[in-house]
Amino acid sequence: MSAAAAPAAQIIRGALLADPAKPRAQPADILITGGVIAAIGPPGLAAPDGATAIDAANTLVHPGLINAHMHSHGGLARGQGDKWTLELLLAAAPWLGGNRALADKKLSATICAAEMVLKGCTAAYDLFAEFPLPTSEGMDAVAEAYAEVGMRAVIAPMVADLSFYQAIPGLLDALPDDLRRATDSLRPGDGAACLAAIEAIARHWSWDHAGIRLGVAPTIPHHCTEGFVCGCGRIARANGLRLHTHVGESKVQAVVGQRLYGRTLLQQMHHWGIVGPDFTAAHGVWLDDADLRLLAETGGNLAHNPGSNMRLGNGLFPLRHALDLGVTVGLGTDGANCSDNQNMYEAMRYASMASKVQSPRVEEWAAVEDVYHAATAGSARALGFGDAGEIRVGAKADLVFLDLRAINWIPHNRTVNQLVHAEDATSVRHVMIGGRLAVHDRMLATVDLVRLAREAEAARERLEAATAEVKALADKLSVVVGSFCPGLAAEPYQVRRYVRE
Ligand SMILES: [Zn+2]
Repeated sequence: MSAAAAPAAQIIRGALLADPAKPRAQPADILITGGVIAAIGPPGLAAPDGATAIDAANTLVHPGLINAHMHSHGGLARGQGDKWTLELLLAAAPWLGGNRALADKKLSATICAAEMVLKGCTAAYDLFAEFPLPTSEGMDAVAEAYAEVGMRAVIAPMVADLSFYQAIPGLLDALPDDLRRATDSLRPGDGAACLAAIEAIARHWSWDHAGIRLGVAPTIPHHCTEGFVCGCGRIARANGLRLHTHVGESKVQAVVGQRLYGRTLLQQMHHWGIVGPDFTAAHGVWLDDADLRLLAETGGNLAHNPGSNMRLGNGLFPLRHALDLGVTVGLGTDGANCSDNQNMYEAMRYASMASKVQSPRVEEWAAVEDVYHAATAGSARALGFGDAGEIRVGAKADLVFLDLRAINWIPHNRTVNQLVHAEDATSVRHVMIGGRLAVHDRMLATVDLVRLAREAEAARERLEAATAEVKALADKLSVVVGSFCPGLAAEPYQVRRYVRE
């Protein structure tokens, strides 16, 4: 089942149009042809004969929000952990996403895509993991999920050639012999085999026509050998694919990077030739001024995930500072297993507040317009979608219609401020993607949520039994991880910021 085809021409009448340059949205009509915005004008805008009229009275239209960083394998693992650092989450990963059948991979992605679109998000950058190696079938299953929901996406196999236990210096040695041996079963597949698998996926990829593109995500720099990261870069550049890596998400990562490479993680990625306009660094909580300047100068992107950064205790990304240094920042939710909803309105609210809590000086705060820009045009740039993230002639008709009679808009004082600080997705009435209504009158047009819930519950029950053994192992390992990694995080590590040059 797929969303109904968009009529050739559509005219949206009666809406207010969000515009960050104006304090309050003004009335405007929008003409769409072939799923693309053809004209925007005052009420009464001319439309060709036969254009389908969409009555948008009492709605506010804003561009579809774009999620710059999430993990569709997290959909079935929502709400599993509470007091988890990133390292405890990584220790739990083998059971959180373990023993998945092909149908589970699609189901998990469908849950995420359905939630995102219901909450006003029209495109996502999905770093999707399969163990021990990525597969064409798995990637197709995830792409199918997005296509069925009607969303755009970049889907990147999230890959490594070292296990978490190999990636943290000293951690294997801290394990008792039996547990150290047991971690062999948690090693990802051979690096060369993984690169060959990614190349095969790239050859086989057939989803570009649906706005669903392939990326490559070497997951965390020190979880990969040099040859492996460079291999990912080579494949990505040879095939025109975007690259995405978690960089400086936790202090443990920052400390480990300095110890292994004698430089920051971002500098190491640059040394490996990865950083550029097609590259997105996720999180960047522990990046310093030189790193942020490097990202800005190379045209790289940063995916800011404030909910996850707080949920996992990683810290606060300096959003205002990064913007001042010229970094392109997109906004993400991160996975449902660590933040836990996929609500971009909440990500905007968190981004604003996480910026403001860092300083008593308002000039060091991100404004609501900055946050709104990150969640739309900023994320679009991270995904490489030049025709999304804003409402202008020539852009895709990816539009969200909010009900102005919903409580979040009573009264409607300042549009962008309320989008960031007051909206929580409960006002979303319609969501249009490429001229097609993926959400109509608050209902998903394409996926039956009752059936989805039934399938998810059956999968949950089956996977809980199937992963019991690997969970028991992970629980034992977590005890060591939970004491070893905070020790690393206690080491001195100075982030050089606000350095005047
Ligand atoms: Zn992530």
